[in-house]
Amino acid sequence: MAAMLNVLRKIVQEVSAAPDLESVLDLTVRRIQRAMHTQVCSIYLLDTISQRYVLMATQGLNPESVGVVSLSPTEGVVGLVGQRAEPINLEDASVHPSYIYLQSTGEERYHAFLGVPIIHQGEVLGVLVVQQFERRRFDESEEAFLITVSAQLAGVIAHAEATGSIQPVGNHSGGGAPLPEDRRFSGVAGAPGVAVGQVFVATLPADLEGVPDKPARDIDLELEKFTTALEAVRNEIREVSRMLAQRLRSDEQALFDVYMRMLEDNALAGQVAERIRAGNWAQGALREVVDEHVRQFSSMEDPYLRERATDIRDLGRRVLSHLQENAGSGEVEFPDNTILVADDLSPTMLGLVPEDKLVGLVSVSGSGNSHAAILARSMGIPTAMGVVDLPFTRLEGRDMILDGYTGRVYVNPSEDLKNAFREILREEQMIAAGLETLKDLPAQTTDGYRMPLWVNTGLVSDVERSLERGAEGIGLYRTEIPFMTRDFFPSEQEQLKIYRRQLEAFAPRPVTMRTLDIGGDKSLPYFPIEEENPFLGWRGIRVTLDHPEIFLVQVRAMLRAAQGFNNLRIMLPMVTSMHEIEEASAQIDRAVRELQEEGLDVERPPVGIMVEVPAAVYLTRRFARKVDFISVGSNDLTQYLLAVDRNNPRVADLYAPYHPAVLKVLHFVAQEVRKEHKPVSICGEMASDPGGALLLMAMGYDVLSMNSNNLPKVKSAIRGTSLAKANALLQRVMRMDDADAIHQYLRASLKSMGLGNLTRPALPGRD
Ligand code: PEP
Ligand code: MG
Repeated sequence: MAAMLNVLRKIVQEVSAAPDLESVLDLTVRRIQRAMHTQVCSIYLLDTISQRYVLMATQGLNPESVGVVSLSPTEGVVGLVGQRAEPINLEDASVHPSYIYLQSTGEERYHAFLGVPIIHQGEVLGVLVVQQFERRRFDESEEAFLITVSAQLAGVIAHAEATGSIQPVGNHSGGGAPLPEDRRFSGVAGAPGVAVGQVFVATLPADLEGVPDKPARDIDLELEKFTTALEAVRNEIREVSRMLAQRLRSDEQALFDVYMRMLEDNALAGQVAERIRAGNWAQGALREVVDEHVRQFSSMEDPYLRERATDIRDLGRRVLSHLQENAGSGEVEFPDNTILVADDLSPTMLGLVPEDKLVGLVSVSGSGNSHAAILARSMGIPTAMGVVDLPFTRLEGRDMILDGYTGRVYVNPSEDLKNAFREILREEQMIAAGLETLKDLPAQTTDGYRMPLWVNTGLVSDVERSLERGAEGIGLYRTEIPFMTRDFFPSEQEQLKIYRRQLEAFAPRPVTMRTLDIGGDKSLPYFPIEEENPFLGWRGIRVTLDHPEIFLVQVRAMLRAAQGFNNLRIMLPMVTSMHEIEEASAQIDRAVRELQEEGLDVERPPVGIMVEVPAAVYLTRRFARKVDFISVGSNDLTQYLLAVDRNNPRVADLYAPYHPAVLKVLHFVAQEVRKEHKPVSICGEMASDPGGALLLMAMGYDVLSMNSNNLPKVKSAIRGTSLAKANALLQRVMRMDDADAIHQYLRASLKSMGLGNLTRPALPGRD
């Protein structure tokens, strides 16, 4: 068992390190054939255009038939495995009714057959087959082994397949084939809207894996930059070596010589220069060469040599940081319609591209309720998240279409597809122009019910945008956002200035400032929190109560900023227990007292809490007695209720704000707070959805706080219906059992109310 596990681990490790699809498949069949002692191992992949299973790699069958032989899903036992999406284990395949004799493969000599499907994200990618001369059934452990390898390799194969469809820059690494049109990659909806533009890949400093390929504009200049960076690293190594000379043994000291040798012309340096001459820019060429060496070293048996992969990576990062330093910021030129693509889109990247040039955002990781996506929605930038198979390093400068409604992107789109999406863009612009006229009209239903609409803010640009759209207050100011774009904690004075801008711009309208909510997917570069389970870890109020000095400075800054406006409300995130409210309240009282003693004219503002944790749901009434208001953070509440990480694209389909359990809880919380005659609001993304907003209004929420971009749509929905109709909608929905059905029913209801323009448009390219 342990031996098999070991074999499995090694196969997966080796195959994962293979550079392209062909080597991934070849290695897989070779290693499995050897591990299982079979005569044949083959892989058939489903060609999405012809919808046939094509023999892509084999060990044992006629190699000439690779790429030539194919079967439809209704042909052969292979087709049957794919169609049923389950293993088929036969003593003698040739007597099976589905058997087809494929002469060119030479398979007539084999009898025993075991085929397992290769399934990635619920889709059958292909079939993995082993065969043997003798007539026998593969035993249970063999079947289990093959299923396990297939499950583990499916992701690797899918990724290699996707990457292989986009050739690298220049033709130095086997490129040159024309790009297929409309190559589609699927992700998760991030922010609604569509975009047609050109890719710019964002990289983090010294993130070698994230460096994109880019054609070198001036090869000599790139070579020169590389030589300079290399020399700087050599100097660094010499310097470190000199400083440590006394403290290291001579064998340890020898490591520096190894480093120096790795950088020599006949090693790394020469290979990078070669790649630059072939057309890639210095940073891309460096990434390619380092990648290759890391792959080679990582797959070595000898632990000493395996460790060298780390050295190469380290050297690569050092050279890269010098290249980036010398690149300067002046060189960056963004295309007119930039679609910013990043491995892991962070809130701080959103400001990278000038607003008039940014038309879309794409992130390989993250999900629809990651904070980067929430901010993108507030900026109104169409966004796709979790596009996990996107070969982002090969996309620099490529044309792309982005569909933020479904999370799909199309690389190298055809003119037809571009035109279809441009048409949607025009329709969206017309709808937005129509909604602009609502700015000064009240959010009032046709039967006279007035629903206050507030906004969530965080970015500097949010204030102006929110006022332009007629926001009546701020229901959530995410104070951590300005903290994230700095190099250290902002001082009290600095915070005061930032907060005053919000309070002043909105006065006399209320501004709800949430105390620092870091942890989860929001980290500060200068205060890293490394955890296995960050969403269940040190987050929100748990951090600030452990650091009263940070909390007090923040509260003092808020109180001072509100002087003269008196429109501040303070809100505590992630509250789980009563003692957290008591401790935080005591700190706020202390800050008020201290400032009064300092002679400032400050008052204790209303203090509220967020209900985001299931425990808080059941204590809502008790909490409500202790505080001045309650606001529901439905983004977190949904993830904790459904046990679905809001940041994980793999479970994005399960993150369902319209899950009956979520709706029940939201209704319950509103009723509980009302029993205590305290105001209850909601500031999760659900309030930004016109259908969700109608339900929440009917549930009795006093205030809906949403991203400013969606406010006009929500207002339009409220003005287009009556409270009576919203109540009826709620009653009907509360009896339904299925999140998808509820979502669809809501959409259909909006349409029947004449509010179809507030739901998503009919999109091209959907299946
Ligand atoms: C929420 O969780 O619903 C919320 C509004 O807070 P955040 O999205 O910032 O976690
Ligand atoms: Mg939250």
